[in-house]
Amino acid sequence: MNLDIRQLKNSPGQNFPFDWTEESEPVDHKGQPLKLTRPVHARGKALYQSGVLHIQLDLETELETECSRCLTSVRIPVKLHEFLEFIEEPKEGMNHVLIEEYSFEHGLDEMDLLPYATKLAISSLDIKPLCRPDCQGLCPTCGKDLNQGICKCALAAEKGDPRLKRLKELLSSQE
Ligand SMILES: [Zn+2]
Ligand SMILES: [Zn+2]
Repeated sequence: MNLDIRQLKNSPGQNFPFDWTEESEPVDHKGQPLKLTRPVHARGKALYQSGVLHIQLDLETELETECSRCLTSVRIPVKLHEFLEFIEEPKEGMNHVLIEEYSFEHGLDEMDLLPYATKLAISSLDIKPLCRPDCQGLCPTCGKDLNQGICKCALAAEKGDPRLKRLKELLSSQE
C-alpha cells in the first residue's frame, strides 16, 4: 500500500485515487496477537499541499477477537471512512515537536499505508466485544459457557438448598 509521495508532491493540490487490497500479519493488541481474518481493503484518494498529505480513506477488513463475556472467538467486520493528515517534518536541524504517527520524514518518497489502516481498524474495536448482544457469558462458579445451556450451579440455585427446602416445608405445615 505504498503511496507515491514524490508523485503527489510533483502535482500539489491534485487528487490521486488508490484502491489496494493486502493481507496483514496479526498485530499486537494489548499484548495479544489480533488476527485480521480478511485482507485489508483500502480505497480512497490522496492529495499533497503545502507540506500536508491529505488522505481520504475507505477501509474494510475483518478482525478476530474474543467475546468479552464467554471468550469464544468472534469475527468483527470493520468498515470505516476516515480522513487522515500527515504533516511533512521540517528538514533536520530545525526544532519541531510532531506526533510521529501523523507525520512523515522530510523528503520521503513512499509511505506504506497498511500499518495505519490496521491501526485504524483495531482502534475501531469495541472495548468489550460480544459474540452476540445477549451473550450469557460464563458461570462465575464452574466456568461453563451459559450460551450452551444452564449449568449445575444454576440448577442447584433453582432447587435451593435441600435443608432450606425442608425448613420451608416445616414452616408451611404449621400454617
Ligand atoms: Zn459471548
Ligand atoms: Zn456453574
